[in-house]
Formats: sequence, structure tokens, C-alpha cells
Amino acid sequence: MKYTKFIDEERKEVVFRVKGIIEVRMDRKIYERYARKYSDEEIISFSPHKEIYNAITGRKMYYITEESEIPLIGHTAFGIIDRGTNLLQVRPISGCNLNCIFCSVDEGKSSTRVTDYMVDVDYILHKFEEVVDYKRKHCRNISIEAHIDGQGEPFLYPEIEELIKKLKEMADIVSIQTNGLPLNEKRIRRLEGYLDRVNLSIHAVDGEIAKRMSGISFYNIEHVLKMAEIIASSDIDLLLAPVWVPGYNDGEIKKIMEFGRRIGAGKKWKAFGIQKYVRYRFGRKPEGVKIMDFKTFYRKLEEMGEGLRLFPSDFGIVKCKSLPKKFRVGERVKLTLEMEGRVKGEMIGVGRERLIQVIDTSKRVGDAVRVEIIRNKHNIYVAREI
Ligand code: SF4
Repeated sequence: MKYTKFIDEERKEVVFRVKGIIEVRMDRKIYERYARKYSDEEIISFSPHKEIYNAITGRKMYYITEESEIPLIGHTAFGIIDRGTNLLQVRPISGCNLNCIFCSVDEGKSSTRVTDYMVDVDYILHKFEEVVDYKRKHCRNISIEAHIDGQGEPFLYPEIEELIKKLKEMADIVSIQTNGLPLNEKRIRRLEGYLDRVNLSIHAVDGEIAKRMSGISFYNIEHVLKMAEIIASSDIDLLLAPVWVPGYNDGEIKKIMEFGRRIGAGKKWKAFGIQKYVRYRFGRKPEGVKIMDFKTFYRKLEEMGEGLRLFPSDFGIVKCKSLPKKFRVGERVKLTLEMEGRVKGEMIGVGRERLIQVIDTSKRVGDAVRVEIIRNKHNIYVAREI
């Protein structure tokens, strides 16, 4: 186990930084008692007195293993999402190193997110295998795509390379979203032959605009552009995916397209995935944005060039029978709350091998609640207490 150890004098805690991102904290006096008998590794793994945090976002983090019996289907923050097609979204971690001013999930240093999640690599691979078996059984001759994304930056996941390589043994295509900052040339080269496509989030070519949009002072557009060039020159395909935020990066979209064409993005799939900024309830809302409706957005895309509007068929996405739903909308059930939710007032319950997000609750972990299911689309469950 790779870790570093230091003392947080202010909080009187011993802190272990494991694999760069997992921060294990423990009261100093309790640690000293344990240390008389156990090694640091044993204390990190087995002590019940520890708190786990995401070292990058500073939020409390749940590390989810198969033994925890927490399912991996049912929530959007972690696990596997099956939207009834041959593409399965794989979400091993939540939390981001950026703080984009338009982020739809208010990631990075956030005012609304209170919890992060990380799934053990063996567990997520095992579940992925089960879902793939189901898909292949119900949809003959389909090509399965594992698309690694999430509410955050997937390359912060310590086992990301192992995950990609092992997913490739089960899926026909493996793709990933990234903001590019955690990449380096060696890492890209190591992933050749396993990773088929990178969807790179890049919202401006101009350094100042890019930094402003990233919401962090250390954002380095030169590094991201360099990584884009390396990916484009490798056998991994590159899709540039800017979010168009009117009033912020209007002049940058064309520049991103010129850059992408010059370096050879889109060798196999489309080169650009321009997205419209959408204002979400729990997303960030930058000041002064002139919201564009979808009709105007698509018209402007057409004016910019052919084929910029994307369709599932551009990526070979076809319908394929969904995993069975385990709860009906309107159904009333009793659940035990197993984890804190992503935002304040939310908890996560478990039932029938699914996760259920219980909203607007003041109950705590371990409490039993009676809830009514109010959403079950794509096996993502939301419930309200009754
Ligand atoms: S990189 Fe993506 S997840 Fe991270 S803050 Fe920006 S928009 Fe949000």
C-alpha cells in the first residue's frame, strides 16, 4: 500500500494520504494506542475509528467494496449506469480537481456537494462483467462500450489504468471523459491498445479564458493542448468537448475546432462534441450568461459546419434491453439508510440490489425510513419520505 503520513496539529489527528487521493484521518491519541500493537497498514485497513476524505475536494468519502454489500446500480454519483443501450457508464469515483464556473454538478470546491464516493476496482469490474453478460444474453451481436465518466474527473481514480485495461477485456470499446490535467505522455502511451477514445473537456484555447472557466488559478491550458496533441498522434481517438457558455467563450469554439482539425482529432468517431450550457438546480450558474434555447443552439452549430450536431448513431449506440427495474414509481417501501448522500438533506438507502437516493430527509445513517419511489428512470431511483 502506497501512503504518506503526517500530523494535522490543528485537528490533533494523524493523517495518512493513500494512493494520492484517499485521506485517512484518526485522532492522534487513538492512533498512538493502536500503533503499540498494529502496523500503519493494519490501522489504515481495519481501525473502526478512522474517517475517510477525498484529499482533493476535502469532502468525506465512502470507499465502497464488495464486502460492504452496497449495490452499484441506482445512483448517478458512482457505480454503473445502464440507459437501455449498448453503452454502459462506469463511474468509479466522484470529485474533481477543477472548479468550472458552469459545472452542472457543482464539482470541485463545492457549496452544495458534501460527500464523495470511490468504488474498489475489483468490485466495479465484477459488477460490470455481470451487466455485460446480461446485455450480451439479451442483445445478440452487439458491441459493448464502457464509457468511464462521472461527477468529477475519472483520472483521479488511483486504479484508473487497471480499470481501463480490464474493462477492455470485457467491452469492445472503452472510452473516457477527462479535463486532461491529470494526463501525461507516459500515461497516454501506456493506455494505447486499451483505450479507444478520450472525450477531452476543453472550453477555450486562450489561456486567460480557459483559466477563468476552469475556476482554478493553476489551470494550465498549454498542458491540456499538449495532451490533446499526444492523444491525437496515438492510436487513441480524440473528441474535443467544449461547453459553450454564451458570453464567456463564444469566440473560442471555432478556435477549438481549428486546433482539433490541425492536430487530427476524430480519427474514428466525430472530432467535436460541442455542448450547450444548461442551468441545473444544483449546478453552477455563472453571472451574465445569455441562455440559448436548443433550437438556436442547433442552428448555430449548423452555421459553424456540417455534422456538429451529434446523434447516438455517430457513436454506434443502439438500444439494448435494460437491467430489470426493481421498484415502481409510486411504490411505498421500507429502507435502511446506508450512506450520506451527495448533497445536504439527501441520504442513500439500499433495497433489492439497488441504491435509492432519499431526498429532503433529516434522518441519519442506520435509520429505517418509509419512502415513496418518485423516480426510477434508467434504474436510477429517487424517493421521498412518507
Ligand atoms: S471538469 Fe467537469 S466535473 Fe470537473 S468542475 Fe469542470 S465541469 Fe465539473
